[in-house]
Amino acid sequence: MTARCVTSSVVGSYPIVVPGSELMAQYFAGENVSWYPYIADAVGDMTEAGIEVVSDGQTRDPFIQLFTRRLGGCRVRARTEVVGPIVYRGGITVDDVQVVRRLVSPSTKIVGVLTGPFTLMKSCIDLFYHDERACCLGFAEALRQEAAALSWFVDEVSIDEPWFANELPAYAEEAIGVISEGSSCPMRLHVCGDVSRIVHRLVGMPVDVLSHEFKASPKLFDAYLQYPSEMGMCIGSVRSDDVRVESVEEVVAHLRRAEEVFGRRVVQVAPDCGQRMLPREVAFAKLRCLQQAKEVVYGG
Ligand SMILES: [Zn+2]
Repeated sequence: MTARCVTSSVVGSYPIVVPGSELMAQYFAGENVSWYPYIADAVGDMTEAGIEVVSDGQTRDPFIQLFTRRLGGCRVRARTEVVGPIVYRGGITVDDVQVVRRLVSPSTKIVGVLTGPFTLMKSCIDLFYHDERACCLGFAEALRQEAAALSWFVDEVSIDEPWFANELPAYAEEAIGVISEGSSCPMRLHVCGDVSRIVHRLVGMPVDVLSHEFKASPKLFDAYLQYPSEMGMCIGSVRSDDVRVESVEEVVAHLRRAEEVFGRRVVQVAPDCGQRMLPREVAFAKLRCLQQAKEVVYGG
């Protein structure tokens, strides 16, 4: 029998308070503004909690501007405007991920997090393409290049597409495939919210792992039972929208339910979504609970 390796991970963001006024003062004093301490805080919490696949915590910017600020063709205002062809101009999150690599032990794995092309397109005002599919595929091509650059430093790339829960376009598989096909890195697709109506499409996505909010929406277990597949699953196991810290017993019971539904297809456990909206001490307590429950069910 082959040993199973189920890892604990995060979805992306982590609540580190970045003192804006301090950064502004450094900037105007001509000093090099360093993001290193904030990334170190986020990664320090994740590793102290025992998490095995960590992210950079997305401390630098909200998850839309984080990408559009560094892409050609995008003008960041209250909402980003697409004013020309979307062009990849070099690493977006690559520097932050390299900082993470230097911070963690060789045995700690890293997930690089991309905001998905459909969510980027839907969050911007398109003044150039005047065509949702073309604009989305423009973002997808840029993200393909970012994923390729990240693959030198990360163990997994996660595409975060919350918008798919509201609307799943006919070209969703095509857009995700632009990023994932030919990638040397395992790919995870995270879609939060109620995805029960689109499970039949999700199981056919060109990725290796699907990640959802199973703790907030346990009915997703029933929805997935109707569509057996070979897709690996990342089980959201602590809520990201509720400050109550789950007990280890509660999360163990949740993971055992996931085992009944998915069996060996469970490859990862994580919070339901990014933890940006939680107080830091709550986010940390939830990660620690997640790790303890994971060790009860799958070992350390
Ligand atoms: Zn999410």
